[in-house]
Order: sequence, then structure tokens, then C-alpha cells
Amino acid sequence: MSELLSIPNVEVDKQRVACRLGYTSALPSAVNKAIDEALDKAKDLISSRGIYNLKKIASFSGESILLEGGVSFTTVKIGSYLVKCCDRVAVFLLTIGHDLEKKVDKLMAEGDFPATLVLDAIGSEAVDTAANYLKELIRKSHEGMEITPYFSPGCGDWKLSGQGSIFNLLDSSKLGMELTESYMMIPRKSISGIFGLGKVDRVTEAPIPCKFCSYKNCPNWALFHSKKGF
Ligand code: SF4
Repeated sequence: MSELLSIPNVEVDKQRVACRLGYTSALPSAVNKAIDEALDKAKDLISSRGIYNLKKIASFSGESILLEGGVSFTTVKIGSYLVKCCDRVAVFLLTIGHDLEKKVDKLMAEGDFPATLVLDAIGSEAVDTAANYLKELIRKSHEGMEITPYFSPGCGDWKLSGQGSIFNLLDSSKLGMELTESYMMIPRKSISGIFGLGKVDRVTEAPIPCKFCSYKNCPNWALFHSKKGF
């Protein structure tokens, strides 16, 4: 059964927004002020919600991972990792809603490019923050188990068309989400994916594909190329 969740507007980290904008050291005062003001305005534009469905892993064919109920995802890299260390996966969708991107589009139409960039970066950070919140909620309701980072269609060898299986499984209309024919999500600031769940030692010891991945824009990349890891 799918669980629908309203995700409270957990705080968006200012430093991470600055990193998304390319600032890794001290912020110029004008940028600092612009981020502070945009963060304040964004509070009323973010309405995070998610839905997930827990499924047992039935088998791995060598190409596709098959879940109970007949859902399958074709990815050798993620499938071979998950089948080694997890018993089940949480298939999820989440979004921060339409309001922030409507405001981004309006700022863009008005030619206010700096404000557009800052608000767009806040939206990206907000949806990742919501994904972390969802991860912790699922972890807490499965005591004694470890949860992997999320993997999304488009990651590694998992084709973007894999979004279709996720949208078929979950009732995206409850979140106001849609998938276009070219597999883009509406609203844009949304995530579809899976978390793996398994025994703590198996998950922490299995070699996660993120360690060998070169896609530096993925939030998981930084996690596994710093000393923090799980
Ligand atoms: S770091 Fe690479 S392997 Fe890991 S989730 Fe991101 S894209 Fe996928």
C-alpha cells in the first residue's frame, strides 16, 4: 500500500544553496543578502509532499531487478548492488509543488536573471532536503535496518524511461505530479526514485555504485567522495 506524506518545510541550508550557485568560500555581501531574501520568500512557495510504496525484492535477472507484484527496473549497476545488500526497496515520488517554479518562470520572464538563479537553486536544494527527510522517516519506521541513498531513473545505466514504472506504481495525482511523454516530471522540482533497505552490516559493507561514479552533479556523489559515507 502507498503511504502519502506531507513533508514539513524543513530548513533549506543556505551554504548548500551558495554551493549550487558556485560559491564555495566567503559569500560576497550582495549574494549573501540575495540568498537571505530569497530564502525568506521561498518559505511560502514550498509545499513538500511525497508518496512511497515498500516492495520486497523478488529477484535480479542480471539486467533487471524484479519487485513483488511484478514491477521491474532495468539497471545492471543499481540492481546488482541492491540485490546484494537489500531485501526491499521504497519506491517514491516527491515534489515541492508548483508555486516556486511559477515564481522562477515569472522572474525569468521579467529578465531578473540573478533572482531567477537564486530561487531556482533554493528549489533544487529544497527538493533534496525533502528527500533526506523522507529517507529518515522510512529509516525510523524500519528499526534495525539501514537505508541506502536514493537512486533515480537517469542514474548510471537506469534509463530515464524507468520513470514510467514508478508513475505506474504510485498515484502521482495525489501529489499533483505528472510525467510527460519525454519522461520529464511536472512540477520540475520533483524526484522519483528508490531507496534500498537491508540489514545494517550488509548495506554499510556493500560497495555502492556512487563510489565509482563520475557524475559530480548528483547529491549522492559528494556524499560518497567525502569522508562521511553512510
Ligand atoms: S552518484 Fe552516480 S551512481 Fe550514485 S546516485 Fe548519483 S548518479 Fe547514481
